[in-house]
Amino acid sequence: MVAAVGAEQIYNFCSGPAMLPPEVMLTAQAEMLDYNGSGMSVMSLSHRSEEFLGIQADAEARLRQLLSMPDNYRVLFLQGGASSQFAAVPLNLMGSDQPAVYLDSGYWSQKAIAEARRYGRVVIAGSSAESQYCSALSSNDYQIDPGAAYLHYTPNETIDGNCFDHIPSAGCVPLVADMSSCILSEPVDVSEYGVIYAGAQKNIGPAGLVVVIVRDDLVGRARADCPRLLNYQTLAEQNSMANTPPTFAIYMAGLVFRWLQEQGGLQDVKKRNVAKAQLLYDVIDNSRLFSNQVVSSNRSLMNVPFSSGNSVLDAEFAQTAAANGLKNLQGHRSKGGLRASIYNAMPYSGVEALVNFIEKFESQHV
Ligand code: PMP
Repeated sequence: MVAAVGAEQIYNFCSGPAMLPPEVMLTAQAEMLDYNGSGMSVMSLSHRSEEFLGIQADAEARLRQLLSMPDNYRVLFLQGGASSQFAAVPLNLMGSDQPAVYLDSGYWSQKAIAEARRYGRVVIAGSSAESQYCSALSSNDYQIDPGAAYLHYTPNETIDGNCFDHIPSAGCVPLVADMSSCILSEPVDVSEYGVIYAGAQKNIGPAGLVVVIVRDDLVGRARADCPRLLNYQTLAEQNSMANTPPTFAIYMAGLVFRWLQEQGGLQDVKKRNVAKAQLLYDVIDNSRLFSNQVVSSNRSLMNVPFSSGNSVLDAEFAQTAAANGLKNLQGHRSKGGLRASIYNAMPYSGVEALVNFIEKFESQHV
C-alpha cells in the first residue's frame, strides 16, 4: 500500500520528514479521535496519564526488542531533534581537560563538530573531505587518542549519501553515533556504543522527536552548566518527562516499531533495504545520463544522490518526476543534483517506479 492522492499513487523520496508506513498512518487515523476507548485523542492525553505511560513503555519495549538492547542502556524520547544532541553530547560527556574526537564524513558530521567546538577542545581524527565526501573513512584513516572523552561519528551521511562499512574501534573511549538516517534500517550491536541518537523524521516517526540511547555509566557526568533539558541524568531519572515530551510523536514511533516487528525484525528489514538500494544503484550505474559518485563500499542504503552533471536537466527531472507521483527527488540545497531517500517505509514498488522513470527520462534525453 502506498499513499494515494485522488486516484494517483504517490511515492515520497524526501530525506525527512519522510514517508511513514501507510499501515501506521491508517492505525493512527482510526485511533485519532478515541484512543483505546479513552474517548480522547492521544494528542490530548496527559503525559502523566496511565494511557500515555502505557504508550511510552510499549514504544520503549518494542525498540529494545528490535535492537536487542542490553539492560544497561537507558532510552530517552526527547524534543529538539537530532541537532539538540550536537550540544547535549559534549555537555554530558566532555571532561574539562579531555578532548572530544570527531570523524568528519560530511555535512552532518560538520554540524556536530561546529557545535561541539562551542564547549571544549575538538580533535578531528579523520576526514573524507579530500574525496568530496564520496567515501566514508576506513579504519586505517584515523587513530583515536585513548584519553579522549568520546569518539563521535555519523554512520550514514544523509546528504552526501555515504556510510561507514565498519564500526570505528574506539577501545575504551565511548563511541557516540548520530544514526538519524540509518537507525532501524539494519541490525546494530548496541553494546559497541556509549550513545546512539537519532532524529525521528526518517525511520522512526514524525519530526521533533529525538531518540537517545545512552549507556548507564555515561549518565551523571554532565558539566555543571549543562541545561536541565539536555542533562542525561535529569532526563533518565524523570523518564524523559523533565518537561512535556512530544507525546504524539512517541505514540507514532511506537506504531512504527510495531510495524517493524511485523516486518520480521531488522534482519528482514535489511534484506529489503539491500534489494531496493541494489535496484536503484544498478540502474544509475548503467545509465548514460546519471551517475552516483560514492565509492561502492561506502554507498548508503538509505540516501542515494545522483546527478546528470547538468543542473537544468536535474531540475527538469525532479519536476517531471513529481508530476508523475515521484515526489521530492531534488538534492539538498547545499549540494544540488538529485537524491532519492529510500528509508524503511519506501516499498520496493516505489523504487521500481523510480527506476522505470529514470530509464524513460533517459531514453527521451540521450
Ligand atoms: N543528523 C543527520 C544525520 C541528519 O540527517 C539530520 C537531519 N536531516 C540531522 C542530524 C538534524 O536533525 P534535526 O533536524 O532533527 O535536528
